[in-house]
Amino acid sequence: CGIVGYVGQRPCQDILIGGLRRLEYRGYDSAGIAVIDAEGELHARKRAGKLAVLTDDLERHPMADGTTGIGHTRWATHGGPTDANAHPHLADGGRLAVIHNGIIENFAPLKAELEAEGVEFLSETDTEVAAQLIGRAYDRVGNLEAAFREVVNRLDGAFTLLAVHANEPGVVVGARLNSPLVIGLGEGENFLGSDVAAFVEHTRHAIAVGQAQIVVVRPDAVDITTFAGEPAEGESFEVSWDA
Ligand code: GLU
Repeated sequence: CGIVGYVGQRPCQDILIGGLRRLEYRGYDSAGIAVIDAEGELHARKRAGKLAVLTDDLERHPMADGTTGIGHTRWATHGGPTDANAHPHLADGGRLAVIHNGIIENFAPLKAELEAEGVEFLSETDTEVAAQLIGRAYDRVGNLEAAFREVVNRLDGAFTLLAVHANEPGVVVGARLNSPLVIGLGEGENFLGSDVAAFVEHTRHAIAVGQAQIVVVRPDAVDITTFAGEPAEGESFEVSWDA
């Protein structure tokens, strides 16, 4: 039910957790994060329950930190609130991580198509279908934005989706359809959030991503396009209230 993303110069585990904490007011049943470290390895941790369950786990079993990452709080719609169903969902041999708010209405036929090709699912979520599709597309096209765009165009319903790939440290891609996504602009770092609460302690310069748009966010650049790939612009605004 909450989404946060970071790409920049700072180790981002605490930034992601801080963003998720500020999104807690929306309610959730599970939480998780994924980061890409300096060696280009992806690390993910996810747990059913309160954010404290995740942070206790990270304290007890520390995970490598990195300067690119995504974080999620889940409100289960497809599959119960378990560790396996929590986000991020991994694909492409654990090198791709995907988080999602919303519902992918046409996940069942897509899942059947993947299962017929021998893909084994680790969760009961609609989200993992998107993760596996992006993973397979990535294998073919070798580019996260292209793989992500191809798959997002096949999905119906309501979704805010973020993805990172270990081969592309320094890149977070996102998309939205009938569900919100906001960019936070920093200095040498940028943020993504399901709402501005996710990053308001770091920046008040924001861009609301438009309906059916894809965003590619790097430490020094933000690139917005339509699902079809045409250049697009979000709506810039300043966060003026006290969050
Ligand atoms: N439909 C997804 C799931 O059940 C995402 C739910 C959410 O918005 O947190 O895992």
